[in-house]
Amino acid sequence: MNRSLLVNEIFLSIQGESSRAGTPCTFVRLAGCRSTCTWCDTRYAMTEGEPMSIRDIIREVDHQQTPLVEITGGEPLEQPAVHPLMQELCNRGYSVMLETGGFINVNEVDARVHKIIDIKPPSSGVSQNNCTQNILLALQAPPEQRHTWEFKIVIADRNDYNWATELLDNYSLTDHCTVMMGTVFDQLPPADLASWILHDHLNVRLQLQLHKYIWPPDMRGV
Ligand code: SF4
Repeated sequence: MNRSLLVNEIFLSIQGESSRAGTPCTFVRLAGCRSTCTWCDTRYAMTEGEPMSIRDIIREVDHQQTPLVEITGGEPLEQPAVHPLMQELCNRGYSVMLETGGFINVNEVDARVHKIIDIKPPSSGVSQNNCTQNILLALQAPPEQRHTWEFKIVIADRNDYNWATELLDNYSLTDHCTVMMGTVFDQLPPADLASWILHDHLNVRLQLQLHKYIWPPDMRGV
């Protein structure tokens, strides 16, 4: 409880990018990320952060009064103390989600945590860094834990889409867990992605970054 993490912001908002989209949620945004995704929309979180003890983070989460908490970033898994933080939140009865960029192995994450794992397509510029071990871990998860695994692929163009469908096919990933496909905001009209998904009868969930439709797209703390 005395360990500390670099925290960029803690705020109450509407969950916008998962199977829980639309649900009130407390977000804990941790600072720092060594990845360099071309279309990253949280660059401010890479360098701006203040140390906070786990005790103080939990106090702030308690203050927001939502049963759902999401740990995001930046890249939360770059800070080892994220694990005791997530464990303590689970112990206290919170539903905990972890949003990770997908280049770090999630094998140390508490099994109670709901993992939202990015798979970065070519337009991100970092697709070579995807940790495919995470996909294998999801495929091996016991049936009663499959609901705690979600993958998210953000699509910028048709090339990304083709790449993603080939990957999903190779692993039969949609047979095992929820896969969400979204668009890079302002780069690909959601209607285009929707028509591709429908044409191909793809068993994925189209997800838009809900918070960017509710509030101004570049607004922080939402
Ligand atoms: S992993 Fe996430 S936070 Fe890091 S650069 Fe990519 S989009 Fe930004």
